Amino acid sequence: MTQIDQRTNDHTNILDVIHRLRDRNALFVINHSGGKDSQAMTAFLRKFVPVDQILVIHAHLPEVVWEDAWDHVRATSNGLHSIKVEASKTFFEMATRRGMWPSPKYRQCTSDLKRGPIEKAIRTHLRNNPQYGGLVVNCMGLRAEESPRRSKAIPLKINERNSKAGREWWDWLPIHDWTVNQVWNGISQAGQNPHWVYAEGLSRFSCIFCIFSTETDQQISARLRPELYRRFVLKEKELKHTMNMQGRGMEEITGIPALPDVIARPDASAI
Ligand code: SF4
Repeated sequence: MTQIDQRTNDHTNILDVIHRLRDRNALFVINHSGGKDSQAMTAFLRKFVPVDQILVIHAHLPEVVWEDAWDHVRATSNGLHSIKVEASKTFFEMATRRGMWPSPKYRQCTSDLKRGPIEKAIRTHLRNNPQYGGLVVNCMGLRAEESPRRSKAIPLKINERNSKAGREWWDWLPIHDWTVNQVWNGISQAGQNPHWVYAEGLSRFSCIFCIFSTETDQQISARLRPELYRRFVLKEKELKHTMNMQGRGMEEITGIPALPDVIARPDASAI
């Protein structure tokens, strides 16, 4: 392997490294949520990575994501090998077992329901496809302008934890320095449309109710998916723990009460 910097923020240097990894027949894995950033990242990668070196992986979270997320991933990844993975437990089961919701500090929803199943699928795919020589570039659509925390993320680095058993594993954020306008342009230049929830006013495509949702996004989601909203409200009451870290319940945040007749229904609180 050519010796190169293992952590770098220099985007010109990064593309040089990426081209060398591509030329070594690395497998490029696209972590695709169905959101605009994943979609723009996919269109970007298609421009210079051969199709047979791309694998799209979508982590599905039953019940709590937009039901057509996987359809949207497949439709916008047309011609690419795409797979859907799922954890052995659901979001609600995880919260019930822990007696609390995940939080920005302890994001078990991401680590257990998304990252874990995706990494397992990558390891299996590498084992079953020796042509990649165990070399993988794991691509995620995080962008610096999304949050101060994300702005500090290293755009390209070796993943030491997963670089073992013959694997050389890189983590790359291909659109880390993109603005939101570049993302929308990337989608439209690919001749595609983003998922319909953006037209409803949602700022992010994530779980329908995410621990990072803004108040406005929660209100929109509550109106679009009232049954699921009620289920979250009921679970908050059962756990005596709010999704919001400042202790504000969803009803207080949205100003939308969960209807009493629905709360009284015996099956409404079922996991
Ligand atoms: S979208 Fe939000 S709630 Fe869903 S897994 Fe990610 S951080 Fe957790």
